[in-house]
Amino acid sequence: SAFGSLTERLNSVWATLKDEDDLSLENIKGPLKDIRRALLEADVSLPVVRRFIKNIEQKAIGTRVTKGVNAGQQLTKVVADELCELMGGFGGDSLAFKDPSMGPTVILMAGLQGVGKTTACGKLALYLKKQGKDSLLVATDVYRPAAIEQLKRLGEQVKTPVFDMGVRVDPPEVARLGLEKARAEGIDVVIIDTAGRLQVDVHLMEELRATKIATAADEILLVVDAMTGQEAAALTAAFDEAVGITGAVLTKMDGDTRGGAALSVREVSGKPIKFTGVGEKMEALEPFYPERMASRILGMGDVVTLVERAQQVVKNEEAEQMRDKILSATFDFNDFIKQMEMMGQMGGMDGFMKLLPGMSGMSEREMQEADKSLKVAKSLILSMTSKERQFPDILVAGASAKSRRKRIIEGAGRSEKDLSQLIVLFGSMRVKMQKMTAEITGASAEVGLT
Ligand code: GDP
Repeated sequence: SAFGSLTERLNSVWATLKDEDDLSLENIKGPLKDIRRALLEADVSLPVVRRFIKNIEQKAIGTRVTKGVNAGQQLTKVVADELCELMGGFGGDSLAFKDPSMGPTVILMAGLQGVGKTTACGKLALYLKKQGKDSLLVATDVYRPAAIEQLKRLGEQVKTPVFDMGVRVDPPEVARLGLEKARAEGIDVVIIDTAGRLQVDVHLMEELRATKIATAADEILLVVDAMTGQEAAALTAAFDEAVGITGAVLTKMDGDTRGGAALSVREVSGKPIKFTGVGEKMEALEPFYPERMASRILGMGDVVTLVERAQQVVKNEEAEQMRDKILSATFDFNDFIKQMEMMGQMGGMDGFMKLLPGMSGMSEREMQEADKSLKVAKSLILSMTSKERQFPDILVAGASAKSRRKRIIEGAGRSEKDLSQLIVLFGSMRVKMQKMTAEITGASAEVGLT
């Protein structure tokens, strides 16, 4: 099965670690060498392996072994976290849907011949149907009538209409007319199957670009075959450069893949894997969660859970300190980011808030929104100066507010809107916390950012 040998190789690593109180360079040198070899054998590219090992080294060295677990388990946790990061971080990336009032969301499916692209179109339609979204499948492979027929058959299987114009109309035009039809009929999503080629060629890329433009596609997913290992990652980077894609679908993960593709795509191309194909059946499509894939690769989700529980005990103590901080109303962006880091291990904002008395003032929806913004928020805060983190108000008022905001946005690679949302979110949290403080202490609430 997928990752079989990688999992085996990694599992033999932990036992070689001497059980000490701290993870040290001395201690982890041997295991890291084994991990390095295991990854290379799994067909992960050398630069990716090098960076990965270096990151593990930095994170592991000096780490105290948490009470209740051994050094091997502790290192497993570090490696699991880093594998998760390598594949895009906790939670993964989902599809970007358009506001329905703006018309159908357009998903363009690209890929070389035989990778499972047409199959993935059918699978995606079924997956979306289960989420209550109707799709229109659009066949634009005008070079292979058989491909159009195949999509029609799949459409029947998943009870989704298929739009085609035979082989005489140019692909971008077929796609555009398909979109028009979907818009007229109020269909939620348009899934466009594009022409596959045996190899990357200029014409294929041009046609994809034209189709992307003609439909203002929201998602451009490159379908790649996991069996091709690091080649799949290189292909993702090449398509992204030529066409601009939003993610990858990694097929044939049910086969005997060595794992190189799953581990390399994100790092090599900068684009997330959004789905994996795990079989020939239409149901065999799964959203990609880096943390789940990481524990599958390690084949020891239970160890990760054990270490997390042990760490939880320690974190609870930190949470209490945080609560005291909030109650004393000195809560700033530094605390905000610390809190966010803790939240990852505490079942999100919800879990953290449960530790705070009287936080029922924050609605379920607000919490979910907050959770979603965490990633964006973190990148923004990390590009703030310590003064800005400590005195967030200088981002709102004052002579330098504008230039500060510009610098932060550019540093984080985010938009002005992202930063405004963060400031509003932070402001509303702080107001709520201060109100709560006022209730508890009887003092008047001092309202900061609004
Ligand atoms: P296309 O040329 O890229 O459109 O590829 P197809 O969709 O025609 O798929 C090529 C072959 O791969 C077919 O036999 C599919 O059944 C098979 N296939 C597609 N996805 C998967 C998958 O996730 N797992 C397995 N085992 N086979 C798959």
